[in-house]
Amino acid sequence: MAYLTLSNVNKIYPNGYHAVHNFNLDIEKGEFVVFVGPSGCGKSTTLRMIAGLEDISSGELLINGKRANELGPREREVAMVFQSYALYPQMTVYDNIAFGLTLQGVDEDVIEERVKRVAGILGLTDYLDRLPRALSGGQRQRVAIGRAIIRKVGVFLMDEPLSNLDAKQRVTMRYEIAQIHRETGATTIYVTHDQTEAMTLADRIVVMKDGYVQQIGTPRELYFEPENVFVAGFIGEPPMNFLRDRVENGRIRIGENELDLKQVQPDIEKYEGQELFFGFRPEHVSLTDPGDAYEIRCRVELTEMLGENTNIYITIGEKQAILKVDSHDTPETDIDFTFYVPHKYVYLFDADEKRLPKA
Ligand code: ADP
Repeated sequence: MAYLTLSNVNKIYPNGYHAVHNFNLDIEKGEFVVFVGPSGCGKSTTLRMIAGLEDISSGELLINGKRANELGPREREVAMVFQSYALYPQMTVYDNIAFGLTLQGVDEDVIEERVKRVAGILGLTDYLDRLPRALSGGQRQRVAIGRAIIRKVGVFLMDEPLSNLDAKQRVTMRYEIAQIHRETGATTIYVTHDQTEAMTLADRIVVMKDGYVQQIGTPRELYFEPENVFVAGFIGEPPMNFLRDRVENGRIRIGENELDLKQVQPDIEKYEGQELFFGFRPEHVSLTDPGDAYEIRCRVELTEMLGENTNIYITIGEKQAILKVDSHDTPETDIDFTFYVPHKYVYLFDADEKRLPKA
């Protein structure tokens, strides 16, 4: 049985705004689930409904098999780590971490043992006597996480916990959060707008847009089997290229290239006369013919060296796209150029932006 279940959950705010539509999800014990999507898509609202900080307008929340809609935040056995870590400035790291247990009247000895264990996991052992102002942003965030994980709860809820850190600290903390999860095995729900955080941390990702779940899957599933244009474009960096054209005689024309789609979609005649999106990822192209691939002529407009890889900004007729190649293969700009898209890496979507079913 799932540890936490959301069943047809909706959120309609008092002003009438319908922020979350029919959210369905089962989370297993120990899973690390990430809600990802652009700002305003309903991630925090969903998390806050799980935490008990927002009412559930309709639908049901089950925690450990029990209906939790009417339970207060404390009765739900959840702990939340917020975006702003809100430590008590006048308390030491030790007291900040211990705070929840002190309130509960837990024995001093037990508190000390648990604080030390948590501080060990978080690398804070040498900082227990310090005040928050004498810590770096990353260390403060670890204290905030420590304050949550010291309570033995069923689910940890994290709302953009890294958003106040600089880029370098974010990478370090991301790694640490993954380590903490490995050591504690705690069921975790984590909200972020950052697809890299989602991809690196999650066992499963829930992609949201405009209050609707777009797709739920492992990072691999979302990357290799996106169900719609939104997910395909949101997961992956740079985003997937989409070239849109009408199917004529089973082909689409992109610039000077005519691509016979029968090779990737045997029932292409079903889509005759319709507009389709021809999708491929920048990193899936090849500069020599790998066989079973589309050959595409384009023009190189600009290149961007990133180190190991280079992004090539191209135009194909009127359309624009990006290729990501090994920097050793960087072409000159303002030249005509040929690349190959292996058939297995072609994604076709219909005019409603849904992936075509396999033929
Ligand atoms: P996210 O976490 O994905 O950025 P939120 O869950 O915070 O998005 O918000 C989802 C939508 O609900 C947004 O359009 C936001 O403006 C709206 N919203 C959030 N809180 C309220 C509120 N208290 N009243 C009305 N609308 C709200």
